[in-house]
Amino acid sequence: MDKISVIVSCYNEEESLPLFYKEMERVRKEDFQDVEFEYIFVNDGSKDNTLKEIKNLRENDSKVRYISFSRNFGKEAAMFAGLEAAEGDYITLMDADLQDPPSLLRQMYDYIKNDGYDCIGTRRVTRKGEPPIRSFFARIFYKLINKMSKVEMVDGARDYRLMTRQMVDAILQLKEYNRYSKGLFSFVGFNTKWIEYENVERVAGETKWSFWKLFKYAIEGITAFSTTPLIISSVIGLLFCLISFLLIIFIIIRTLIYGDPTSGWPSMVCIIFFVSGVQLFSLGIIGQYLSKTYLEVKHRPIYIVKETEKGETMIKK
Ligand code: UDP
Ligand code: MG
Repeated sequence: MDKISVIVSCYNEEESLPLFYKEMERVRKEDFQDVEFEYIFVNDGSKDNTLKEIKNLRENDSKVRYISFSRNFGKEAAMFAGLEAAEGDYITLMDADLQDPPSLLRQMYDYIKNDGYDCIGTRRVTRKGEPPIRSFFARIFYKLINKMSKVEMVDGARDYRLMTRQMVDAILQLKEYNRYSKGLFSFVGFNTKWIEYENVERVAGETKWSFWKLFKYAIEGITAFSTTPLIISSVIGLLFCLISFLLIIFIIIRTLIYGDPTSGWPSMVCIIFFVSGVQLFSLGIIGQYLSKTYLEVKHRPIYIVKETEKGETMIKK
């Protein structure tokens, strides 16, 4: 019998968790009589009663396993911890807020079993319920990153996906500290089929992603999967050298012909401002890559575990 591992990352999800478990169990009983299940709840340093809720579920259901972090390490770290702990033949990643409908899971499982796919991904075709400004920047981000990176990022792709053991093992080999999963899933390759669905709003609680957090996450994606910004800043630098060279020749000739009346102070100030702006911008780009490298070479653990269903404290990468 196949076993499916359901990995759920939870950060302050005390309200959503019981609802998620109920719905997931309903789907499991209805559609999955022929499949074994395990749940891995990753408590990402929640400040509310999430851990208590998880322990409650564990008491009544031995399928429930959990990993509790020593603090909030972020969703990427939580997903990685879940993937490391999963023991199933097929592994799925889900949010606790029911924005990833469990009802799609049977269809995903059938595709993977019968049609030879290694991974079934899901993507939202609408972004209803989301602030328009957020959708707008999301769209720009996907356009940009797909131009800049060889690794394909699908617009609207969720982290909700069902993968084979083989693909998960491949992902686990990527031990980088700055994790951008959408890119990592794409990077490892394998045969992926996309299922589309309409956006669902979260059942309870509120989103943990502020605009600023999303912006930083976007930069993460770009620096992790593209070096194009470095090329752009080099090209701009070169272009400016060329322009200044032409200007120098122009000024020399003009001085030779018309003499040297002192003028051009305002234009000079504008030029200085502009050029130093470009310099700082380029320096910032280089700084981004440098800082990511800095964090990477420290080899800090991606997450630190405080407690699991087995009780013991363990520290793992
Ligand atoms: N999450 C997490 N750690 C964090 C932030 C979020 O584990 O630091 C989890 C959260 O509990 C939820 C999932 O990631 O299960 C998606 O978060 P959310 O619903 O807030 O994001 P959105 O759906 O609005 O993009
Ligand atoms: Mg959500």
